[in-house]
Amino acid sequence: MTIETAIQYLPGVGPKRAALLESELGIVTVGDLLRLYPFRYIDRSSIVRIADVQPDLAQVQVRATVQKVRLYAKNGAELPPDKLKYNLVSRLSAIVADESGEMEVVFFKGVKWMHSRLTPGATFIFFGKPAIFGSHLNMVHPEVDAPDTANTGVLTGIYPSTEKLKNAGITGRTMLKLIGTALEGVLPTLQETLPDYVLKEKGLVPLTFALRQIHFPVDQAALGKASYRLKFEELFLLQLSLLKQKYIRSRNAVGLKMPAVGDAFNACFNALPYELTNAQKRVIREIRADLMSGHQMNRLLQGDVGSGKTMVAVLSALIAVGNGYQACIMAPTEVLAQQHYANVSKYLKPTGVRCALLTGNTGVRERREIHAGLQDGSIGILIGTHALIEDTVQFRALGLAVIDEQHRFGVEQRSRLWNKGWNSVPPHVLVMTATPIPRTLAMTLYGDLDVSVIDEMPPGRKPVTTLCVGEGKRHAMHNFIRDEIAKGRQAFIVYPLIFESEKLDYKNLELGYEEIVKAFPLPDYKVAIVHGRQTPQEKAFNMDAFVAGRAHILVSTTVIELAEEDLKLRGPGDLEGTMQSGLPISLNIASLAKDGLILNDARAYAQHILDQDPTLSEQKNAPLAQELQRDKYLTKDYSQIS
Ligand code: ADP
Ligand code: MG
Repeated sequence: MTIETAIQYLPGVGPKRAALLESELGIVTVGDLLRLYPFRYIDRSSIVRIADVQPDLAQVQVRATVQKVRLYAKNGAELPPDKLKYNLVSRLSAIVADESGEMEVVFFKGVKWMHSRLTPGATFIFFGKPAIFGSHLNMVHPEVDAPDTANTGVLTGIYPSTEKLKNAGITGRTMLKLIGTALEGVLPTLQETLPDYVLKEKGLVPLTFALRQIHFPVDQAALGKASYRLKFEELFLLQLSLLKQKYIRSRNAVGLKMPAVGDAFNACFNALPYELTNAQKRVIREIRADLMSGHQMNRLLQGDVGSGKTMVAVLSALIAVGNGYQACIMAPTEVLAQQHYANVSKYLKPTGVRCALLTGNTGVRERREIHAGLQDGSIGILIGTHALIEDTVQFRALGLAVIDEQHRFGVEQRSRLWNKGWNSVPPHVLVMTATPIPRTLAMTLYGDLDVSVIDEMPPGRKPVTTLCVGEGKRHAMHNFIRDEIAKGRQAFIVYPLIFESEKLDYKNLELGYEEIVKAFPLPDYKVAIVHGRQTPQEKAFNMDAFVAGRAHILVSTTVIELAEEDLKLRGPGDLEGTMQSGLPISLNIASLAKDGLILNDARAYAQHILDQDPTLSEQKNAPLAQELQRDKYLTKDYSQIS
């Protein structure tokens, strides 16, 4: 048996269970089963003093002596211990104590058997989930073992499971048994995934030890070493794969050379009503260096809402235009695209550069005009939604693609853009996001992107605060909005889209709009509304009213054209929720949120190894090269798509 053996052939599995293991947990091979790690452990390796028991702990065990046992009837009356009829007993309660304190143990079932065992003066190991009942500590239906036969000294793994698996008899116990069988079958011939020198330099335990101890730990220390090794391995191989791709791309990917700043840039820059912040200037310098380099830019621009990313996008687009290329700016929703279009048109006035808006709602005739303008080059900047990357949209010479709010766009779409470059050279790519993710996480989430950060707000702008307001505080929220409006500010209210039904979403938006209009009546307040069913003129009218300050409140829904598509693009937001969406891999053991230190170390180490052997062709790195051949890493290699 090897890790490649189909799971069906593992003794105890067979075709039926194999099908379930695959559909429920994605387990196809014996190796997959071994890489399904417990998500927690029941710790029976230590005995807790009753005084130290925390009621929120998962499960604990205490060693205690029975003090007193009482039996109760259904109506709560205590039953006399003599002339007992057990069928009248609905509850057994025993007070047990150690030297530090006492607690109650309670049984509703198996009362007769427990009554015979729990004789006052006898000592047991009680293992279960503690709770506070009334004012005292209790444990309902604990496992009760004599101290010499108790299953102490053991950490038992708990595995992910589903109702279907349980119904098919694959319980936690079965899982442990299957994994035990798999370990015995595979370990003798198991190949180490990390080179010896890596294990030594990073102080990691061997894979065989790690796999055995992650499933059947002898103690906390062994579990710690096993888990560290597996987390490091996972993050290290991931980083190695990303950095290697980046290396290959930077070597191969020729980029369009844009040596000039250009007149358009200067015209826009000189007409700016404000001075750029230092952060904006720095980021534009970074982008300009990329555009001049002759290599394709793949850059992530991160900055809070209101930090001025749009300006950076516009100036970058104008560099492209100034060098004879075109640029596009892609937003995740129709409303955002409209907003960009309104802003960008304003900035472009002094430049004479023509820009156009293309969304799913653009009419046939207008669309035809836009297509023509893109092909003859008269449109310099195209702004829009997903509609931009349709195959029918052809540029004369696309030099830069800006993608706003990457988390809505998959890596695949980014690669579709690449086909729209000029002369088979992919356009430069700038991805903008307001999601505040730490740099290293960003690098992992967005693979091989370089990262720029706008860490400064324009003068007078405060960073946006996110508050969660409960339904009951609706009134307070309205008052808050009234106060802000009184100060001359505006409010933008978004009704999120629920995927199941467009009708319902629209209904929600309508109801929401009515409620807002009631709370903010004319003539004191003007409320504008924007949604996907309006004509472009209606939308523009409402947006303009808000942008120009004629409306105090803009109510909008996040209108998404492709809803189903969107779900697909985001990928399974499994382990880390939104954090991980867009990441085209799933992690088995490491957590991007919790294992930041290991991630940093793994990334630096991967870089260190690649500095010396960028293609991993040295003999000592053969195991690494082989690991990166696995499906898990190959599917992410989008660098080959263009
Ligand atoms: P983001 O896209 O990062 O959320 P925007 O680009 O929409 O932010 O900018 C928010 C607002 O700040 C816009 O009204 C913009 O005109 C303004 N702004 C941008 N840069 C500056 C600056 N350097 N000084 C003053 N205002 C700025
Ligand atoms: Mg923005």
